[in-house]
Amino acid sequence: MTDEYQEQRADLAAAFRWFARLGMAESVANHFSVAVSADGSRFLVNPCRRHFSQITASELLLLDAHDPSTLQKPNAPDPTAWYLHAGLHANVPHARCVMHLHCKYATALGCLADSTLYPIDINAARFFGRVAIDAQFSGMALSSDEAVRQAKLLVNGKSVLLMANHGVLVVGATVAAAFDELYYFERAAEMLLTCYSTGKPLRFMPHATAELTKRQWLEYGNFPADHLNAVKEILDREEPEFRR
Ligand SMILES: [Zn+2]
Repeated sequence: MTDEYQEQRADLAAAFRWFARLGMAESVANHFSVAVSADGSRFLVNPCRRHFSQITASELLLLDAHDPSTLQKPNAPDPTAWYLHAGLHANVPHARCVMHLHCKYATALGCLADSTLYPIDINAARFFGRVAIDAQFSGMALSSDEAVRQAKLLVNGKSVLLMANHGVLVVGATVAAAFDELYYFERAAEMLLTCYSTGKPLRFMPHATAELTKRQWLEYGNFPADHLNAVKEILDREEPEFRR
């Protein structure tokens, strides 16, 4: 499809393909979306049962949260994607882009009784005080209830929702912001679990240092856009069809 959202389409397609390369996709499940209307009611999301590695810009579905016939249409989205993303775009103003994965380390962290991402390295410190934990896993989200509950947790600058017994969900002002946040959250979780696996005592960062490091990350200029642009440069060379 050709419309006025080509830039968001290309960014989102690039994000799907890159997370597939990183081994963070799970079969033909999981979903990313980006709002294209001011109230978040219209948004782009991945087509149902399509592998992340194959997604192209033009096949992203443009949905309208006010259209009650969405799930009955021939090219309907995955129902869990529909309920979750429509609900979050409507209820969380800073959730312009929403990304949900069952990536290995973030999900493993959410399966521990204590799912706190402790500030033990520079990447984990980025998320200091910015992670909400949804401890109430209640099966697949096949109604809007889960999105309503989760929207209430994504307040006070929180951009990561660690979904206990399930996966992770990240929100951002742009595709690049959510992409960068999700990449770094998975890396931080990987580091913490690697440290746990040694069985040795952890070297926790003082809270003041974690707070400072977080602020430095948040003021790190165009880093997320540079990150996604670098990824698109690689994809333009190696699999340029993502822009189609
Ligand atoms: Zn999920």
